Amino acid sequence: MSVWDDVVGQEEVVATLQHAVADPTAMTHAWLFTGPPGSGRSTAARAFAAALLCPQGGCGRCRECHTAIEGTHADVELVRTETVIIPVDSARDLVQLAGRRPSVGRFRIIVIEDADRLNESSGNALLKALEEPTSHTVWMLCAPSLEDVLITIRSRTRHVRLRTPSVSAVAELLVRRDGIAPEMAAHAARAAQSHIGLARRFARDDGARIRRHDAVTLTTRIRGVGDAVDAAADLVQIAEEERDAALVERHAEEKAKLLEMLGADPAARTQPVAVRSQISALEKEQKKRATRYLRDVVDRSLTDLMSVYRDALMVREEAGVPLVNEDARGTVTQLAQVFTAAGLLGCMDAIGTARARIEANVPPLLALEAMAISLQMPR
Ligand SMILES: [Zn+2]
Repeated sequence: MSVWDDVVGQEEVVATLQHAVADPTAMTHAWLFTGPPGSGRSTAARAFAAALLCPQGGCGRCRECHTAIEGTHADVELVRTETVIIPVDSARDLVQLAGRRPSVGRFRIIVIEDADRLNESSGNALLKALEEPTSHTVWMLCAPSLEDVLITIRSRTRHVRLRTPSVSAVAELLVRRDGIAPEMAAHAARAAQSHIGLARRFARDDGARIRRHDAVTLTTRIRGVGDAVDAAADLVQIAEEERDAALVERHAEEKAKLLEMLGADPAARTQPVAVRSQISALEKEQKKRATRYLRDVVDRSLTDLMSVYRDALMVREEAGVPLVNEDARGTVTQLAQVFTAAGLLGCMDAIGTARARIEANVPPLLALEAMAISLQMPR
């Protein structure tokens, strides 16, 4: 057993990091982890943190290992953000924290999970600290790709790149770590296209699996402009259900906690001004988070849709490769029969365009309507 067990399908990265742990002369104090969503960037960074703090270099059993991986270690600061931008104030706080000596371990480690959300000013606030870190500080920044990170940050960090793990490696992890039955694990890993977190959700949450299946199978219903508009509305609705399933309860809990902390009566019809302003600040944050969450969910369902047309193309061309959507083979076959290869590629283009538009802040429903009109089944 070791801290590296859950870093699946990343042999090269693990070798580099292990080398840095074992040989202080190979150690760097500012790292950049990139890799596609779900490839385990944060898992790799936390495993590295554990290995650096563990007296045995990452045994996976001791308290240091456990707390570092969970993100509760006193010397590991795990920065997660659900807003679009990491504010400059937060960046300055991190720089201050980085300057302090570690309280128990050898290093003070700061893991920024979404370094792509640093903007010009918050990024700049980190530069000096990244360039001249103290010997007891280790920065670990994570982002989807190099292009997502400010160039000034790139040049001050050592880069390790994670690959998309294989379906079988992800399935194996679900079986070993989460105790999921092998058949379900294989299905979930395939449907999630090797996105580890998502595969776990699919394996454990029937609702998530059903919502994905609904999104994938609505493709064959698009036979006219009216159907296209309906399909776009359905996709948004599916995404909203997913968002609510994830956030409604959590938001209510946050609000209750805040009221309790302020000593306010949760049942009161009106709250004092000071309480009201705190509540409205919280609600503003929650709203931002919900917007971002919805966009992420829509983006993911577009990846799912893309995979159906990809599967149809594979079936059409008799490529003989495993299908992502084995559970929706009927839909895949039907698309393969009615579309030409060029038609299927055109659909994939339309989905790509919709993703780019949503990324550029076009309201999801609008982008999806335009896309669905291009996905109409040929007569
Ligand atoms: Zn350990």
